[in-house]
Amino acid sequence: MDTVLVVNAGSSSLKFEVFSIEGGLSRRLKGQMEGVGTAPRLRIKGATEEVLADHQHSQSEVPDLQAAMRLVGAWLRESHEGRLVAVGHRVVHGGPEYGRPVLIDEKVLADLERYVPLAPLHQPNNLAPIRAILARRPDLPQVACFDTSFHRGHSAVADHYAIPERFFAEGVRRYGFHGLSYEYVASRLPELAPEIAPGRVVVAHLGSGASMCALFNGRSVESTLGFTALDGLPMGTRCGQIDPGVILYLLNQKGMTPDQIQDLLYKDSGLKGLSGVSNDVRALLESEDSRAAFALEHFVHRIGLNAGMLAAALGGMDGFVFTAGIGENSPEMRKRIVEKLEWLGAKLDPERNAAGHLLISTADSWLRVYVVPTDEELMIARHTLASSRA
Ligand code: AMP
Repeated sequence: MDTVLVVNAGSSSLKFEVFSIEGGLSRRLKGQMEGVGTAPRLRIKGATEEVLADHQHSQSEVPDLQAAMRLVGAWLRESHEGRLVAVGHRVVHGGPEYGRPVLIDEKVLADLERYVPLAPLHQPNNLAPIRAILARRPDLPQVACFDTSFHRGHSAVADHYAIPERFFAEGVRRYGFHGLSYEYVASRLPELAPEIAPGRVVVAHLGSGASMCALFNGRSVESTLGFTALDGLPMGTRCGQIDPGVILYLLNQKGMTPDQIQDLLYKDSGLKGLSGVSNDVRALLESEDSRAAFALEHFVHRIGLNAGMLAAALGGMDGFVFTAGIGENSPEMRKRIVEKLEWLGAKLDPERNAAGHLLISTADSWLRVYVVPTDEELMIARHTLASSRA
């Protein structure tokens, strides 16, 4: 059995999936090492969700991502039957140059290192497994799949900030992220929602990271995310759009250091910061604390505003698609959000929404509203197979 390995390495977790490739890509296993450096736990499930491994490790066994990679690599070599033919990696930043997935060699790796300053929290973790596999198996094709690529067709007007052009030239642009998720959803629309697929569609990727993307005929034309994954919607722990003057205030008046501000904006803001209760929408919905309700109200308000912005970018809206953890699993949040889209002609079908149907708007709703589960790993596997065979 020939297989493709998909790797998604973050700062405290290492996620991986294995797909067999004969007769079409099919998921064989899915695992993650969570709590790297704190309370490491390796969990692996098979194709039918059966538990293949569930090990708690000590902090000293898995102090960092390198150790997590060694452990996962050892497990895969020992326990996984099949011949690995390629590895696909989720890489957050493809910079201005990489508009599509790329087969990795030393030159590409050097280019991707140059983008570390554009995504200092994510890019180094994404590149570490590539380097480790390159050292161990230089013959094995590895493909980098970027969160930015899908948005590289945006117009120059959409990609610019109104600051002097020299900054754009050095890479300060509105890149947009969650591109693998949007690309997957866009690839499903012709089959699942043929009446909106060629038209003006806004996709809301609402998970612990959250953004929205405007699609015209399946291509991204605008995104709520920009230079970094901090912009746009408030997220689990990230602030979303904020007046840059707030950063100047924190620096100049509060005497905060850049690192403190970075932590505040990435880790202690968003739903967590605003509610003081949790970054998890499930916990906020259950909470009786008024700050939890306020944080959700703010989240929905910002989604409504951003939907209007993307409708303007598209000159109207034919379809709205929910995806990712909140979008796929929370009828309550979908209901609150669709209320904000009523002015665009959206009418929710409460039964279809509660039952988690694909189409959740009524038959006479002008705006068609869908729920389409995303699958970024499958998208990476598809790209990896295509790029490694090209
Ligand atoms: P993701 O990043 O796509 O895996 O989404 C993770 C987030 O989805 C969690 O932090 C939760 O806030 C949210 N989520 C998952 N399931 C539910 C649910 N049933 N109701 C509300 N939110 C959910």
